[in-house]
Amino acid sequence: MSIIQSISPIDGKILGEFEASLPEHIEQALQSARSAAKQWEAIEVKQRCRILAQFSRILLAEIDSVCEVISRTTGKVLTEALLGEAYPVLDIAKYYEKHAARILRNQGIATSPFAFPGATAEITRKPYGVVAIISPWNYPFQITVSQILSALFAGNAVVFKPSELSLPVGQLIMDLFAKLELPQGLVQWVVGDGQCGEQLIDASPDLVVFTGSLNTGRAVMQRAAQHPIPVILELGGKDAMIVFEDADLERTRDGALYGAFCNSGQACVSVERLYVLEGCYEKFRQMLCDGIAKLKIGHGTEGDLGAMTSKRQIEIVQKQYDDALAKGAKASGQLEFEGNYLNPVVLWDVTPDMLVMQEETFGPLLPVIPFISEDEVIQFANKGDFGLNASIWSTDIAKAERVAKQLEVGNWSVNDVLKNVGHPGLPFGGVKKSGFGRYHGAEGLRNFTYPVSGLTSRSHLAKEPNWFPYSEERYQQFKGYIDFVYGTGSFFQRIKRNWQALQAFREYSAFDLKQRWQNLQLMLPWKRDF
Ligand code: NDP
Repeated sequence: MSIIQSISPIDGKILGEFEASLPEHIEQALQSARSAAKQWEAIEVKQRCRILAQFSRILLAEIDSVCEVISRTTGKVLTEALLGEAYPVLDIAKYYEKHAARILRNQGIATSPFAFPGATAEITRKPYGVVAIISPWNYPFQITVSQILSALFAGNAVVFKPSELSLPVGQLIMDLFAKLELPQGLVQWVVGDGQCGEQLIDASPDLVVFTGSLNTGRAVMQRAAQHPIPVILELGGKDAMIVFEDADLERTRDGALYGAFCNSGQACVSVERLYVLEGCYEKFRQMLCDGIAKLKIGHGTEGDLGAMTSKRQIEIVQKQYDDALAKGAKASGQLEFEGNYLNPVVLWDVTPDMLVMQEETFGPLLPVIPFISEDEVIQFANKGDFGLNASIWSTDIAKAERVAKQLEVGNWSVNDVLKNVGHPGLPFGGVKKSGFGRYHGAEGLRNFTYPVSGLTSRSHLAKEPNWFPYSEERYQQFKGYIDFVYGTGSFFQRIKRNWQALQAFREYSAFDLKQRWQNLQLMLPWKRDF
């Protein structure tokens, strides 16, 4: 049996010891989650919403201790634990509590009178069953709980695997859900490293929702493909921020510092490339250097930037910093601070061959690059593998939105940064190598379900028009029908030239009309059987 120790990046204190899950435990978790999922799915959506509404109340009542655990586990300052982790969860919980029933309701679909005479069609949404959620260490509460809630509102059970760097937060999530009246085993977790993630996929959940790096995402998809299990991948980013000369430069400077250094840059949507129009480039670069000097490093409620979560991440950032300087970039200052804390740094004179311009940084480095035109900056921003988020800054909103819509990203914001990701109504996710699938919003909730399409014929006619026997005459009749529906010319021209053929379908269209009339009548309020 192996034990994983959790150590705070703030001061090196031991936060807890966790027993790693064995493969048989993971199998058992899947099995009990499967039977809990059956009970949960059977509860109607509105009732599920009432039960899940308790989650926000419990979280609110315990918000200080929740933020404390998140902060001590990740190293982030308390305000970021509150605003970046707890608050978005409250938002998404409220949003789905209000909208889940509407988003998941059955949808009636129109049917064509000749192909499906008198038939009705509908789409119902079914939960997948057991959703495996594999989550990263940078927002271990917000990402994991938003996805757990989405899965639950949609009617699934969940087995989640937090990063081995976030185990106290995993325990916290379990403790919070344990306070709800949920079927036994509906929310469970497994403890371990990447191998544990692999074993979770091998235990054959019905959907895998993965948030993490591109390389691990590839491995997850490959593993899921063996079953095959559908996957949602939320991967990395190299987000661009574009600043035009007509932007409110003070506000934009503060937005850039926040966008690049929030959570010490360890956000998938951190600003990692800052493009500034040549006319204001020098001035803006100086403003950034002045602004950076005022940022405070610390913990609790005191600092702006907290500790980096892992030594490994510090090494990645250090490598990019050293590489950039060795290749001729200039820096606003030293990267080292002390322990797991890093100074935020602005870099300029950067070139495309530098690692900081090629790979995700996930740390407090901000490269600034000049551009000369709208077209050029769109080209710059669209370079590279990732396509997660972007922001455009200008007082000319039409121009900013025009540029935004030409970017290859899943999300963008104008004159604001990062916050768009937390909007509960906006589906969030990437394009290109930033992944696929969405969470948040109506689309995000539906992603935790699959559509079931149903068609009911109410026909009492002897046959459907397409049934056997076939004949040359029947062939010509069908050809006439197809020309009537899709051919060129006006409605009357098409009916005239296909009149003969359409006679063959007379009884179906008459039946369809009659049936439609009856269906319509059934929908009248006084005819409905409530
Ligand atoms: P990783 O890809 O290293 O890990 C993500 C999760 O996958 C962890 O729980 C990890 O476990 C687990 N894991 C590792 N190997 C495997 C495997 N072979 N099979 C199954 N699971 C495995 O990412 P990080 O935790 O380092 O997170 C940072 C990355 O996440 C960045 O690239 C960032 O951009 C991205 N991210 C994307 C977001 C988005 O919404 N698009 C949001 C937040 C982050 P363990 O940690 O225990 O090894």
